[in-house]
Amino acid sequence: MNFEEFSFDRRIAAGVKSVGYTTPTPIQEKAIPVILKGRDILGIAQTGTGKTAAFVLPILQRLTQGPRGKVRALIVAPTRELAEQTHQEIIKLGRDTKIRSVTIYGGVSKKPQLAALRRGVEIVVACPGRLLDHVDAGALDLSHVEVLVLDEADRMCDMGFLPDIKRIIRQVPEKRQTLFFSATMPKDIRALADRILDRPETVQIGMIAPAKTVSHALYPVPEDRRKELLVAMLQRTKTGRVLVFTRTKHRAQNLATFMKKRGYRAGALQGNMTQNQRQQAISGFRKGKIDMLVATDIAARGIDVSQISHVVNFDMPDTVDAYTHRIGRTGRAEHSGEAFTFAVRGDSGMVREIEKTIGTKLERRRVPDFDYGVGFNPERQFPQRSSSSSRLPRSFRSRGTRRRSFR
Ligand code: AMP
Repeated sequence: MNFEEFSFDRRIAAGVKSVGYTTPTPIQEKAIPVILKGRDILGIAQTGTGKTAAFVLPILQRLTQGPRGKVRALIVAPTRELAEQTHQEIIKLGRDTKIRSVTIYGGVSKKPQLAALRRGVEIVVACPGRLLDHVDAGALDLSHVEVLVLDEADRMCDMGFLPDIKRIIRQVPEKRQTLFFSATMPKDIRALADRILDRPETVQIGMIAPAKTVSHALYPVPEDRRKELLVAMLQRTKTGRVLVFTRTKHRAQNLATFMKKRGYRAGALQGNMTQNQRQQAISGFRKGKIDMLVATDIAARGIDVSQISHVVNFDMPDTVDAYTHRIGRTGRAEHSGEAFTFAVRGDSGMVREIEKTIGTKLERRRVPDFDYGVGFNPERQFPQRSSSSSRLPRSFRSRGTRRRSFR
């Protein structure tokens, strides 16, 4: 398929040509025709898939018709970096259309933003807080918005923007097109999408295949012994950089504090931290000031640190997708890595789903000499479903023998 098949206005086609895009990415192929028809979209896709152009191009197409000088498209993004990237994509793709876009975010002077709004724009790309400041001050009228885009919705909610988003939605007309993008779809995000989308078409972009260089292991453990198991495991394992995942921000902070008390050079990375604090944690991890980062799924998305030796799923991920994203953090660029997943009572369904997706059984492991507590029987909850008994993990066949990885 090529871009001509979308029959874009010639000025937009010229923009596409000028940036050198020839073949639409999968999300563009799926989403553009739906958005051009005016339908709502629930897009489950990460940054890096080409999703920005997937919504920018049809928005530009719509705006080539109709009035100028009114805010007709509003794109809401969690960070100024994402807002700027989106704005740049609009400028590049729309360079021949004379459609105007402005970015609105905090931490910088309001003056140039106000000047641009006064001159008149058709597209606003904004972070929620400053956007509402301008609305409250009467500087920005959202009553002509025809298309509302919520980008990286999960991250916005993680950063505490949900109340702001609800307020923004009350400011835009009820009759509008809404395009909702999120990399993950936890319950609260699903509920928000259900509330604000009108019979949306769901567009999901396939999962990243798990890296082949990663070996996977499952550690059944009683819930209240997990912290101690993590310490015991680390004492017996040769590790480099370790990335630990928890389900919530609070638990990430809590576990990082616990590990620090136990003498590990650990830090947290979670959504309640300011952007500066997060950046500091990531760069500390990259430079080797800390060896362990305890993170939530969403906060960890910004990490670009190579040579992570171990990913530990302290909490089971909510989805198989989240599992593959987490473990994709290790084994990068030809380096091999290990992914350790702690499994507690109730996790067996997710374990089965993960095994089905990665096409292999997670090897059950037990840390020798670790006190799992009385009556703990992992075989019952997490049987190694294997046709051949010889494939039963060694740790279950002869308890107490030291495993290779615990030298
Ligand atoms: P995004 O997911 O929107 O952040 O896009 C990721 C990168 O892919 C950006 O650098 C885009 O410029 C680029 N890109 C988007 N669409 C295409 C395409 N059809 N062909 C080649 N590159 C693209």
